Amino acid sequence: MKNIILLGATGSIGTQTIEVLRDLSNQYRLVSFSFGKNLSKAISIINEFKPRYVCSELKEHADILKNIFPYLQVGYGSEGLLECATFDVGDHYPTTVVNALVGSLGLKPTVAAIRKGYTIALANKETLVTAGKIVTEEVRKHQVTLVPIDSEHSAIFQCLHGENHKNIKRIILTASGGAFRDKTRDQLEDVTVEEALRHPNWSMGSKITIDSATMMNKGFEVIEAHFLFNVDYDSIATVLHRESIIHSLVEFHDTAILAQLGTPDMKVPIAYALTYPDRIMISNAKPLDLTEVGTLHFEKVDFTRFPCLKYAYDAGIIGHSLPTVLNAANEAAVKLFLEGKIKFLDIEKIIYENLEQHKLIKDPDLETIIQLDKELKERIISSAERRAL
Ligand code: MN
Repeated sequence: MKNIILLGATGSIGTQTIEVLRDLSNQYRLVSFSFGKNLSKAISIINEFKPRYVCSELKEHADILKNIFPYLQVGYGSEGLLECATFDVGDHYPTTVVNALVGSLGLKPTVAAIRKGYTIALANKETLVTAGKIVTEEVRKHQVTLVPIDSEHSAIFQCLHGENHKNIKRIILTASGGAFRDKTRDQLEDVTVEEALRHPNWSMGSKITIDSATMMNKGFEVIEAHFLFNVDYDSIATVLHRESIIHSLVEFHDTAILAQLGTPDMKVPIAYALTYPDRIMISNAKPLDLTEVGTLHFEKVDFTRFPCLKYAYDAGIIGHSLPTVLNAANEAAVKLFLEGKIKFLDIEKIIYENLEQHKLIKDPDLETIIQLDKELKERIISSAERRAL
């Protein structure tokens, strides 16, 4: 038996985690979960999985849940999220926390769950971007396991199984290129939110789909790979691979390259993160037919065409408080774009300006990071709204 805590149960990764848990229902038990605003979906998860603790974003939803389920422990907001992430069912079974939250709000609950000694299955890449150093230090200190859910990092994690770290020459992240991979810079000038949300290969939440269109997603994944696998930035490469069949690769010093392949389906990395080092049969997973795919394509990634990727490398290499700025500026800018308040190319402009203006804070602690993140987002959003008036 294993206890599962799921943060962000009604989002894209959360929903697919619920599907995987159905395949695992006799060995894994959902004991606690959090959700945003989708109350009806949360109620159906409670009815199906009978968890002991549920956290909603809004107080009014928590009040409704208390009325319907008098025996359920209910929380809400950021306090509730911490209770949810550290919930202790009081048995001797190991607990895994699946962090499927979007954005830096996933940071505090991740650190709290690490300190509690829980295994972390991490889909919330912003946590590693904004505070990778602190999170990996906490993981080492509390000797917990951190398993990636991001498909590229799951691929690398699988390729490195049984390999010695010293044999790694470089990590190669594949990138689909997102919704606008065939557009020129000029054509990006007037693209709409709807166009940006149309990802060619993966069906994902809106924030990550925009991050894919700007390639910031790949930039974040470079930083994520640096912290997860303890590899220098000059040993992390990216390659454009439009089919999304090879999920990433590892090159070793003898020039051998290992890759992990499969049809694009997030249930595979989710299941692996839960059952590692075991593997399970996944309902409705489509096996890869190589002859059906026929050809795979690889192209160089152009930093001029995708400046956000360059900003991410720069911020990662400089380190300290700069990755926090990168993430906060991106989160605020993507929010503004999704609300129709700025244009697509303003996203990268806002990120660049904030990186340029920032006065570096050496080795920021957790509180400094959380404060900086909050201040930057508020400043970016209020100044954009002032300009729009
Ligand atoms: Mn990914």
